[in-house]
Amino acid sequence: MALIVQKYGGTSVGTTERIKNVARRIAKWKAQGHDLVIVVSAMSGETNRLIGLAKDIQEYPDARELDVLVSTGEQVTIGLLAMALKEIGVPAKSYCGWQVPVVTDSSHSKARIQSIDDAAMRADLDAGQVVIVAGFQGIDEVGSITTLGRGGSDTSAVALAAALKADECQIYTDVDGVYTTDPRVVPEARRLKTITFEEMIEMASLGSKVLQIRSVEFAGKYKVRLRVLSSFEEEGEGTLITFEEDQNMEKAVVAGIAFDRNEARINVKGVPDKPGIAYQILGPIADANIEVDMIIQNVGEHGTTDFSFTVPRGEFQRTLGILRDVQTHIGATKIDADDKVAKISIVGVGMRSHCGIASTMFRTLAEEGINIQLISTSEIKVSVLVDEKYLELGVRVLHKAFGLDQAVEA
Ligand code: ADP
Ligand code: ASP
Ligand code: MG
Repeated sequence: MALIVQKYGGTSVGTTERIKNVARRIAKWKAQGHDLVIVVSAMSGETNRLIGLAKDIQEYPDARELDVLVSTGEQVTIGLLAMALKEIGVPAKSYCGWQVPVVTDSSHSKARIQSIDDAAMRADLDAGQVVIVAGFQGIDEVGSITTLGRGGSDTSAVALAAALKADECQIYTDVDGVYTTDPRVVPEARRLKTITFEEMIEMASLGSKVLQIRSVEFAGKYKVRLRVLSSFEEEGEGTLITFEEDQNMEKAVVAGIAFDRNEARINVKGVPDKPGIAYQILGPIADANIEVDMIIQNVGEHGTTDFSFTVPRGEFQRTLGILRDVQTHIGATKIDADDKVAKISIVGVGMRSHCGIASTMFRTLAEEGINIQLISTSEIKVSVLVDEKYLELGVRVLHKAFGLDQAVEA
Protein backbone atom coordinates (compact mmCIF):
# COMPACT_ATOMS: atom_id res chain seq x y z
CA MET A 1 0.00 0.00 0.00
CA ALA A 2 1.39 3.35 -1.02
CA LEU A 3 0.58 7.03 -0.71
CA ILE A 4 0.19 8.35 -4.23
CA VAL A 5 -0.48 11.87 -5.50
CA GLN A 6 -2.14 11.88 -8.92
CA LYS A 7 -2.70 14.97 -11.07
CA TYR A 8 -5.21 15.07 -13.92
CA GLY A 9 -4.76 17.86 -16.48
CA GLY A 10 -7.35 19.95 -18.30
CA THR A 11 -8.06 17.59 -21.20
CA SER A 12 -8.35 14.65 -18.80
CA VAL A 13 -11.19 16.44 -16.93
CA GLY A 14 -12.49 18.32 -19.99
CA THR A 15 -16.05 16.92 -19.87
CA THR A 16 -18.26 15.33 -17.21
CA GLU A 17 -17.84 11.99 -19.02
CA ARG A 18 -14.07 12.29 -18.67
CA ILE A 19 -14.43 13.25 -15.01
CA LYS A 20 -16.47 10.07 -14.47
CA ASN A 21 -13.74 8.14 -16.23
CA VAL A 22 -11.09 9.66 -13.96
CA ALA A 23 -13.25 8.70 -10.96
CA ARG A 24 -13.35 5.08 -12.17
CA ARG A 25 -9.56 5.04 -12.49
CA ILE A 26 -9.15 6.46 -8.99
CA ALA A 27 -11.59 3.85 -7.64
CA LYS A 28 -9.34 1.10 -9.04
CA TRP A 29 -6.27 2.47 -7.28
CA LYS A 30 -8.27 2.86 -4.09
CA ALA A 31 -9.50 -0.75 -4.35
CA GLN A 32 -5.85 -1.84 -4.42
CA GLY A 33 -5.48 -0.30 -0.98
CA HIS A 34 -3.55 2.89 -1.84
CA ASP A 35 -3.96 6.24 -0.11
CA LEU A 36 -4.74 8.83 -2.77
CA VAL A 37 -4.45 12.59 -3.01
CA ILE A 38 -5.77 13.86 -6.34
CA VAL A 39 -4.94 17.24 -7.87
CA VAL A 40 -7.02 18.52 -10.77
CA SER A 41 -6.75 21.32 -13.31
CA ALA A 42 -9.65 23.32 -14.66
CA MET A 43 -11.59 21.82 -17.59
CA SER A 44 -9.58 22.40 -20.78
CA GLY A 45 -10.05 25.89 -22.21
CA GLU A 46 -11.61 27.20 -18.99
CA THR A 47 -8.61 29.16 -17.70
CA ASN A 48 -8.26 30.87 -21.10
CA ARG A 49 -11.98 31.63 -21.11
CA LEU A 50 -11.76 33.25 -17.68
CA ILE A 51 -8.73 35.34 -18.67
CA GLY A 52 -10.70 36.45 -21.76
CA LEU A 53 -13.58 37.62 -19.57
CA ALA A 54 -11.19 39.63 -17.42
CA LYS A 55 -9.67 41.29 -20.50
CA ASP A 56 -13.14 42.26 -21.70
CA ILE A 57 -13.32 44.43 -18.62
CA GLN A 58 -9.76 45.59 -18.01
CA GLU A 59 -6.97 45.65 -20.62
CA TYR A 60 -4.50 44.86 -17.85
CA PRO A 61 -6.61 43.01 -15.27
CA ASP A 62 -6.03 43.74 -11.60
CA ALA A 63 -3.60 41.06 -10.44
CA ARG A 64 -5.38 40.16 -7.19
CA GLU A 65 -8.83 39.99 -8.74
CA LEU A 66 -7.59 38.04 -11.75
CA ASP A 67 -6.42 35.29 -9.37
CA VAL A 68 -9.83 35.34 -7.63
CA LEU A 69 -11.38 34.80 -11.05
CA VAL A 70 -9.08 32.24 -12.70
CA SER A 71 -8.84 30.04 -9.62
CA THR A 72 -12.56 29.25 -9.98
CA GLY A 73 -11.82 26.86 -12.86
CA GLU A 74 -10.24 24.35 -10.48
CA GLN A 75 -12.98 24.78 -7.87
CA VAL A 76 -15.47 23.46 -10.44
CA THR A 77 -13.47 20.31 -11.20
CA ILE A 78 -12.73 19.36 -7.55
CA GLY A 79 -16.46 19.55 -6.78
CA LEU A 80 -17.43 17.50 -9.83
CA LEU A 81 -14.76 14.87 -9.24
CA ALA A 82 -15.72 14.45 -5.58
CA MET A 83 -19.34 13.95 -6.66
CA ALA A 84 -18.32 11.44 -9.34
CA LEU A 85 -16.36 9.43 -6.76
CA LYS A 86 -19.18 9.46 -4.20
CA GLU A 87 -21.56 8.40 -6.93
CA ILE A 88 -19.58 5.17 -7.41
CA GLY A 89 -19.26 4.58 -3.67
CA VAL A 90 -15.78 5.99 -3.05
CA PRO A 91 -15.57 8.36 -0.06
CA ALA A 92 -13.97 11.63 -1.19
CA LYS A 93 -13.52 15.19 0.03
CA SER A 94 -12.52 18.24 -1.97
CA TYR A 95 -10.30 21.14 -0.92
CA CYS A 96 -9.60 24.52 -2.48
CA GLY A 97 -5.99 25.70 -2.09
CA TRP A 98 -6.92 28.02 0.81
CA GLN A 99 -8.66 25.21 2.68
CA VAL A 100 -5.56 22.98 2.82
CA PRO A 101 -3.97 25.58 3.12
CA VAL A 102 -1.32 25.85 0.40
CA VAL A 103 0.47 29.02 1.51
CA THR A 104 2.29 31.03 -1.16
CA ASP A 105 4.02 34.37 -1.50
CA SER A 106 1.97 37.28 -2.84
CA SER A 107 3.19 37.39 -6.46
CA HIS A 108 -0.20 37.09 -8.08
CA SER A 109 -0.33 34.91 -11.21
CA LYS A 110 3.16 33.52 -10.51
CA ALA A 111 3.10 32.80 -6.79
CA ARG A 112 5.59 30.42 -5.21
CA ILE A 113 4.50 27.82 -2.67
CA GLN A 114 5.99 28.45 0.76
CA SER A 115 4.34 25.81 2.95
CA ILE A 116 1.61 23.21 2.93
CA ASP A 117 -0.25 22.06 6.03
CA ASP A 118 -0.84 18.33 5.64
CA ALA A 119 -2.84 17.81 8.88
CA ALA A 120 -6.37 17.89 7.45
CA MET A 121 -5.42 15.78 4.43
CA ARG A 122 -3.74 13.17 6.65
CA ALA A 123 -6.79 12.94 8.89
CA ASP A 124 -9.00 12.37 5.83
CA LEU A 125 -6.65 9.75 4.41
CA ASP A 126 -6.61 7.96 7.78
CA ALA A 127 -10.41 7.99 7.65
CA GLY A 128 -10.30 6.27 4.25
CA GLN A 129 -11.20 9.29 2.13
CA VAL A 130 -9.77 10.17 -1.26
CA VAL A 131 -8.51 13.74 -0.90
CA ILE A 132 -9.06 16.02 -3.90
CA VAL A 133 -7.16 19.31 -4.07
CA ALA A 134 -7.61 22.17 -6.54
CA GLY A 135 -4.38 22.64 -8.48
CA PHE A 136 -2.85 25.97 -9.51
CA GLN A 137 -4.03 27.90 -6.44
CA GLY A 138 -2.96 28.95 -2.97
CA ILE A 139 -3.41 31.67 -0.41
CA ASP A 140 -0.93 34.31 0.73
CA GLU A 141 -0.30 35.48 4.28
CA VAL A 142 -2.88 38.25 4.09
CA GLY A 143 -5.56 35.82 2.94
CA SER A 144 -5.66 36.67 -0.76
CA ILE A 145 -6.11 33.88 -3.30
CA THR A 146 -3.04 33.37 -5.48
CA THR A 147 -2.26 31.28 -8.58
CA LEU A 148 0.98 29.59 -9.54
CA GLY A 149 1.40 30.44 -13.24
CA ARG A 150 0.10 28.62 -16.32
CA GLY A 151 0.44 24.88 -16.01
CA GLY A 152 0.75 25.35 -12.24
CA SER A 153 -1.31 22.31 -11.26
CA ASP A 154 1.77 20.19 -11.96
CA THR A 155 3.57 22.18 -9.29
CA SER A 156 0.67 21.84 -6.84
CA ALA A 157 0.83 18.06 -7.27
CA VAL A 158 4.58 17.76 -6.78
CA ALA A 159 4.52 20.14 -3.80
CA LEU A 160 1.74 18.11 -2.16
CA ALA A 161 3.70 14.91 -2.83
CA ALA A 162 6.74 16.50 -1.16
CA ALA A 163 4.73 17.72 1.84
CA LEU A 164 3.05 14.32 2.30
CA LYS A 165 6.27 12.37 1.55
CA ALA A 166 4.26 10.45 -1.02
CA ASP A 167 5.72 7.34 -2.60
CA GLU A 168 5.07 8.67 -6.11
CA CYS A 169 3.60 11.68 -7.90
CA GLN A 170 1.84 10.69 -11.12
CA ILE A 171 1.03 13.37 -13.71
CA TYR A 172 -1.78 12.12 -15.94
CA THR A 173 -2.13 13.99 -19.21
CA ASP A 174 -3.18 13.58 -22.85
CA VAL A 175 0.09 11.93 -23.94
CA ASP A 176 1.49 8.73 -22.44
CA GLY A 177 4.77 10.18 -21.24
CA VAL A 178 7.59 12.55 -22.07
CA TYR A 179 8.58 12.25 -25.71
CA THR A 180 11.79 12.99 -27.59
CA THR A 181 9.94 16.10 -28.78
CA ASP A 182 6.33 17.29 -28.90
CA PRO A 183 4.52 14.39 -30.64
CA ARG A 184 2.03 16.89 -32.08
CA VAL A 185 4.84 18.42 -34.16
CA VAL A 186 6.88 15.32 -34.94
CA PRO A 187 4.72 12.20 -35.28
CA GLU A 188 7.90 10.04 -35.20
CA ALA A 189 8.70 11.26 -31.68
CA ARG A 190 9.18 8.40 -29.21
CA ARG A 191 8.19 8.09 -25.60
CA LEU A 192 11.17 8.02 -23.24
CA LYS A 193 11.02 5.36 -20.53
CA THR A 194 13.16 7.58 -18.34
CA ILE A 195 14.58 11.07 -18.53
CA THR A 196 17.04 12.51 -16.07
CA PHE A 197 15.91 15.25 -13.79
CA GLU A 198 18.50 17.64 -15.29
CA GLU A 199 17.27 16.96 -18.82
CA MET A 200 13.65 17.40 -17.78
CA ILE A 201 14.44 20.75 -16.17
CA GLU A 202 16.05 21.92 -19.42
CA MET A 203 13.24 20.56 -21.61
CA ALA A 204 10.62 22.28 -19.43
CA SER A 205 12.48 25.58 -19.28
CA LEU A 206 13.11 25.54 -23.04
CA GLY A 207 9.44 25.21 -23.94
CA SER A 208 8.18 21.61 -23.48
CA LYS A 209 5.07 22.34 -21.52
CA VAL A 210 4.35 18.71 -20.63
CA LEU A 211 5.56 19.61 -17.11
CA GLN A 212 5.66 23.10 -15.62
CA ILE A 213 9.30 23.91 -14.84
CA ARG A 214 8.63 24.68 -11.20
CA SER A 215 7.16 21.22 -10.68
CA VAL A 216 10.42 19.69 -11.89
CA GLU A 217 12.43 22.02 -9.65
CA PHE A 218 10.29 20.95 -6.69
CA ALA A 219 10.77 17.28 -7.55
CA GLY A 220 14.53 17.85 -7.64
CA LYS A 221 14.66 19.73 -4.37
CA TYR A 222 12.54 17.25 -2.41
CA LYS A 223 13.50 14.12 -4.34
CA VAL A 224 9.92 13.35 -5.33
CA ARG A 225 9.49 10.28 -7.52
CA LEU A 226 7.77 11.80 -10.53
CA ARG A 227 6.10 10.02 -13.45
CA VAL A 228 4.18 11.28 -16.50
CA LEU A 229 1.39 9.01 -17.82
CA SER A 230 -1.71 9.04 -20.02
CA SER A 231 -5.14 9.40 -18.48
CA PHE A 232 -6.66 7.83 -21.58
CA GLU A 233 -4.85 4.50 -21.46
CA GLU A 234 -5.43 1.78 -18.91
CA GLU A 235 -1.93 0.33 -18.91
CA GLY A 236 1.47 1.89 -19.43
CA GLU A 237 4.44 2.88 -17.33
CA GLY A 238 4.77 6.39 -18.80
CA THR A 239 8.04 8.24 -18.25
CA LEU A 240 9.92 8.24 -14.95
CA ILE A 241 12.05 11.27 -14.10
CA THR A 242 15.26 9.80 -12.67
CA PHE A 243 17.84 11.41 -10.46
CA GLU A 244 20.80 9.43 -11.65
CA GLU A 245 21.98 8.60 -15.08
CA ASP A 246 21.70 4.89 -15.75
CA GLN A 247 25.25 4.01 -16.80
CA ASN A 248 24.21 0.68 -18.27
CA MET A 249 21.67 2.15 -20.55
CA GLU A 250 22.72 2.79 -24.13
CA LYS A 251 21.27 6.27 -24.32
CA ALA A 252 21.25 8.74 -27.15
CA VAL A 253 23.57 11.72 -26.67
CA VAL A 254 20.66 14.05 -27.34
CA ALA A 255 17.67 13.01 -25.22
CA GLY A 256 15.14 15.42 -26.64
CA ILE A 257 14.33 18.56 -28.58
CA ALA A 258 12.38 21.46 -27.09
CA PHE A 259 11.07 24.53 -28.85
CA ASP A 260 9.51 27.83 -27.91
CA ARG A 261 7.49 30.24 -30.03
CA ASN A 262 7.32 32.74 -27.20
CA GLU A 263 10.41 34.69 -28.30
CA ALA A 264 11.12 38.09 -29.83
CA ARG A 265 14.58 39.27 -30.92
CA ILE A 266 16.06 42.73 -30.49
CA ASN A 267 19.32 43.80 -32.06
CA VAL A 268 20.83 47.09 -30.90
CA LYS A 269 23.32 48.17 -33.56
CA GLY A 270 26.32 50.48 -33.48
CA VAL A 271 26.61 50.51 -29.70
CA PRO A 272 29.77 52.18 -28.28
CA ASP A 273 32.15 49.35 -27.32
CA LYS A 274 32.94 50.35 -23.74
CA PRO A 275 32.37 49.08 -20.18
CA GLY A 276 28.84 49.40 -18.83
CA ILE A 277 26.97 49.17 -22.13
CA ALA A 278 25.31 45.80 -21.45
CA TYR A 279 24.12 47.21 -18.15
CA GLN A 280 22.81 50.41 -19.73
CA ILE A 281 20.79 48.40 -22.25
CA LEU A 282 19.53 45.59 -20.04
CA GLY A 283 19.25 47.48 -16.73
CA PRO A 284 16.06 49.41 -17.65
CA ILE A 285 14.58 46.21 -19.08
CA ALA A 286 15.23 44.32 -15.87
CA ASP A 287 13.79 47.26 -13.90
CA ALA A 288 10.59 46.87 -15.93
CA ASN A 289 10.46 43.21 -14.81
CA ILE A 290 10.96 41.88 -18.33
CA GLU A 291 12.81 38.58 -18.48
CA VAL A 292 15.66 38.51 -20.97
CA ASP A 293 16.52 35.09 -22.37
CA MET A 294 19.33 34.75 -24.97
CA ILE A 295 22.02 37.47 -24.99
CA ILE A 296 24.83 37.97 -27.48
CA GLN A 297 27.40 40.72 -27.83
CA ASN A 298 29.89 40.73 -30.67
CA VAL A 299 33.55 41.66 -30.43
CA GLY A 300 33.72 45.36 -31.31
CA GLU A 301 35.28 46.94 -34.36
CA HIS A 302 36.16 50.64 -34.82
CA GLY A 303 34.84 51.40 -31.33
CA THR A 304 31.32 50.04 -31.81
CA THR A 305 29.59 46.69 -31.50
CA ASP A 306 26.16 45.01 -31.88
CA PHE A 307 24.15 43.76 -28.94
CA SER A 308 21.31 41.23 -29.37
CA PHE A 309 18.90 39.57 -26.98
CA THR A 310 15.46 37.97 -26.77
CA VAL A 311 12.42 38.72 -24.60
CA PRO A 312 9.01 37.01 -24.30
CA ARG A 313 6.83 37.92 -27.29
CA GLY A 314 4.20 39.52 -25.08
CA GLU A 315 6.83 42.01 -23.85
CA PHE A 316 8.07 42.94 -27.35
CA GLN A 317 6.35 46.34 -27.67
CA ARG A 318 7.09 47.33 -24.09
CA THR A 319 10.77 46.45 -24.59
CA LEU A 320 10.95 48.53 -27.79
CA GLY A 321 9.39 51.45 -25.94
CA ILE A 322 12.05 51.29 -23.23
CA LEU A 323 14.84 50.94 -25.80
CA ARG A 324 13.85 54.10 -27.67
CA ASP A 325 15.02 56.13 -24.68
CA VAL A 326 18.09 53.95 -24.17
CA GLN A 327 19.09 54.34 -27.83
CA THR A 328 19.23 58.10 -27.59
CA HIS A 329 21.03 57.93 -24.27
CA ILE A 330 23.84 55.58 -25.40
CA GLY A 331 23.98 56.76 -29.01
CA ALA A 332 23.24 53.42 -30.73
CA THR A 333 22.78 53.75 -34.50
CA LYS A 334 19.81 51.44 -35.05
CA ILE A 335 17.40 49.00 -33.45
CA ASP A 336 16.47 46.02 -35.55
CA ALA A 337 13.72 43.83 -34.06
CA ASP A 338 11.67 40.77 -35.03
CA ASP A 339 8.90 39.02 -33.12
CA LYS A 340 8.44 36.21 -35.66
CA VAL A 341 11.26 34.10 -34.32
CA ALA A 342 11.40 30.82 -32.41
CA LYS A 343 13.94 28.93 -30.36
CA ILE A 344 14.90 25.29 -30.96
CA SER A 345 16.99 23.48 -28.34
CA ILE A 346 18.66 20.09 -28.23
CA VAL A 347 19.05 18.67 -24.72
CA GLY A 348 21.04 15.75 -23.34
CA VAL A 349 23.36 14.96 -20.45
CA GLY A 350 25.41 12.91 -22.94
CA MET A 351 26.61 16.19 -24.51
CA ARG A 352 29.02 16.60 -21.62
CA SER A 353 31.13 13.75 -22.89
CA HIS A 354 30.67 14.11 -26.65
CA CYS A 355 32.05 16.72 -29.01
CA GLY A 356 30.63 17.74 -32.34
CA ILE A 357 27.00 17.85 -31.24
CA ALA A 358 26.60 21.57 -31.86
CA SER A 359 28.27 21.31 -35.28
CA THR A 360 25.92 18.47 -36.28
CA MET A 361 23.04 20.73 -35.29
CA PHE A 362 24.35 23.67 -37.32
CA ARG A 363 25.12 21.52 -40.35
CA THR A 364 21.66 19.92 -40.31
CA LEU A 365 19.96 23.31 -40.22
CA ALA A 366 22.27 24.71 -42.93
CA GLU A 367 21.41 21.80 -45.24
CA GLU A 368 17.78 22.92 -45.06
CA GLY A 369 18.72 26.55 -45.68
CA ILE A 370 17.65 27.54 -42.15
CA ASN A 371 19.53 30.62 -40.97
CA ILE A 372 20.57 30.76 -37.30
CA GLN A 373 20.09 34.21 -35.76
CA LEU A 374 21.38 33.62 -32.23
CA ILE A 375 22.99 30.72 -30.38
CA SER A 376 23.23 29.95 -26.69
CA THR A 377 24.69 26.91 -24.98
CA SER A 378 25.07 25.29 -21.60
CA GLU A 379 26.75 22.05 -20.60
CA ILE A 380 23.75 19.94 -21.62
CA LYS A 381 21.93 22.02 -24.24
CA VAL A 382 22.37 24.04 -27.43
CA SER A 383 19.67 26.55 -28.41
CA VAL A 384 19.31 28.39 -31.69
CA LEU A 385 16.98 31.19 -32.67
CA VAL A 386 15.46 30.87 -36.14
CA ASP A 387 12.74 32.45 -38.25
CA GLU A 388 9.43 31.15 -36.90
CA LYS A 389 8.43 29.77 -40.26
CA TYR A 390 11.27 27.23 -40.08
CA LEU A 391 10.46 26.01 -36.58
CA GLU A 392 8.66 22.79 -37.45
CA LEU A 393 11.02 21.87 -40.28
CA GLY A 394 14.01 22.54 -38.02
CA VAL A 395 12.67 20.36 -35.22
CA ARG A 396 11.87 17.53 -37.64
CA VAL A 397 15.27 17.44 -39.34
CA LEU A 398 17.14 17.66 -36.03
CA HIS A 399 14.99 14.88 -34.59
CA LYS A 400 16.09 12.66 -37.45
CA ALA A 401 19.72 13.82 -37.50
CA PHE A 402 20.20 12.82 -33.86
CA GLY A 403 18.55 9.44 -34.39
CA LEU A 404 15.69 10.21 -32.02
CA ASP A 405 13.14 8.45 -34.20
CA GLN A 406 14.98 5.16 -33.65
CA ALA A 407 14.60 3.11 -30.48
CA VAL A 408 17.83 3.11 -28.51
CA GLU A 409 16.69 2.01 -25.10
CA ALA A 410 17.04 -1.56 -23.95
P1 ADP B 1 -2.29 19.04 -19.20
O1 ADP B 1 -3.49 19.83 -19.55
O2 ADP B 1 -2.58 17.60 -18.91
O3 ADP B 1 -1.46 19.68 -18.13
P2 ADP B 1 -0.48 20.06 -21.22
O4 ADP B 1 -1.13 20.49 -22.47
O5 ADP B 1 -0.05 21.08 -20.25
O6 ADP B 1 -1.41 18.96 -20.53
O7 ADP B 1 0.81 19.16 -21.56
C1 ADP B 1 0.70 18.05 -22.42
C2 ADP B 1 1.12 18.45 -23.83
O8 ADP B 1 2.50 18.76 -23.83
C3 ADP B 1 1.01 17.35 -24.86
O9 ADP B 1 -0.29 17.30 -25.40
C4 ADP B 1 2.07 17.72 -25.88
O10 ADP B 1 1.52 18.35 -27.03
C5 ADP B 1 2.93 18.76 -25.17
N1 ADP B 1 4.36 18.42 -25.22
C6 ADP B 1 5.35 19.31 -25.54
N2 ADP B 1 6.54 18.72 -25.52
C7 ADP B 1 6.34 17.43 -25.17
C8 ADP B 1 7.21 16.31 -24.98
N3 ADP B 1 8.53 16.40 -25.13
N4 ADP B 1 6.64 15.14 -24.62
C9 ADP B 1 5.32 15.02 -24.45
N5 ADP B 1 4.45 16.04 -24.62
C10 ADP B 1 4.94 17.24 -24.98
N1 ASP C 1 -5.68 25.68 -15.24
C1 ASP C 1 -4.36 26.23 -15.19
C2 ASP C 1 -3.87 26.54 -16.59
O1 ASP C 1 -4.59 26.34 -17.55
C3 ASP C 1 -3.38 25.35 -14.45
C4 ASP C 1 -3.11 24.01 -15.08
O2 ASP C 1 -3.84 23.55 -15.95
O3 ASP C 1 -2.10 23.38 -14.68
O4 ASP C 1 -2.78 27.02 -16.75
MG1 MG D 1 -0.05 21.23 -18.18
